[in-house]
Parts: sequence; C-alpha cells; structure tokens
Amino acid sequence: MKYCTKCRRMYNDSEHNCTECRKHYALETLEDQTTPVYLTSASGFELDRIQAALEDGGIPSSSKAQEKSLSADAVTGADKSNRDILVPFNALEEARDVCIGIGAIKPEGEEIKVEGQDVEDAVNFEIDESEVMSPAKRTAVKIISAILLIIIACLVIWGTDAITGWIKGLF
Ligand SMILES: [Zn+2]
Repeated sequence: MKYCTKCRRMYNDSEHNCTECRKHYALETLEDQTTPVYLTSASGFELDRIQAALEDGGIPSSSKAQEKSLSADAVTGADKSNRDILVPFNALEEARDVCIGIGAIKPEGEEIKVEGQDVEDAVNFEIDESEVMSPAKRTAVKIISAILLIIIACLVIWGTDAITGWIKGLF
C-alpha cells in the first residue's frame, strides 16, 4: 500500500501521485503499520459522533483541517468546515466497520449486493466511461486530441504573425 504524506489517503502500489491534493504529492510506501491514514471527512456534530464511536471501539483517532479549507478560523479552532479523520493504518478496517455501523460511511460496493436486475444497473453505473473505451478507441481519441492541439497551436502562431504583420503595415 502507498499513502499520501499530505492528506494521508491510501493508494494502491500502482499509483504514483495523490489525486486529492492540488499539487499531486508523490506517494510513499506505507511501512509503519501505525501511520495515521485517512478514514473519512466530517464536520461539526458528525465529526464528534464518529470520533466518539471510534473511541468506544478503542481506536485512537485524530482529525485535521482539510488543506482546501485552511483559514484563520481553522487555526483558531472556530472552523466548522470538514475535517479529515485519521486513524492508524492497522486499525483502518476496524474503524471503517465502526463508521459503517453508525451509518457514517457507506459500505464499499453496497449496490452490487442487490439481487436481480438492479445488479446490472448498479454495476454499469459504477463503471467509469474511460474503462469502457476499448484501447483502440482510446488511442484514436488521443491522436485526435493531439492533432486538434497542433491545429490550435498553428492557428495561434499564424494569427499572431498576421496581426504583427498588420500592425507593422500601419507604420
Ligand atoms: Zn494527498
């Protein structure tokens, strides 16, 4: 497993950069099992409720202001915006179960458990469109995008030349 040292979200080993952080921090391999990692985000009462439930379950947790919502209020503690709840990595599964138990987070792949026709709908809904695209189609899209980019670049260069020429012609 890998994790982002900034927002503490977990990633698979195949990932290299955090997709949550604005600067796309490089991920580090998680070695220390007690490293605090991201569980969920909450604010106000919900935050207190989750932390109380975790405490009841004997799971140490901490919370930190989200990077995006850093403000003077966040520093003074008057901030009521979302905070990230962190728990030790080795207690992450347990902490998730606690949160699911109190309805704070939805179990992963919940929709897929539904029997019958709904299953297909749920599965189709879950699949990202980029994954549906065949490799050939994806390559075609990439090539077309590249060509369009070149055309736009050419237009900009020609346009600038034309305007420069026109301005020179004025004097
Ligand atoms: Zn991050």
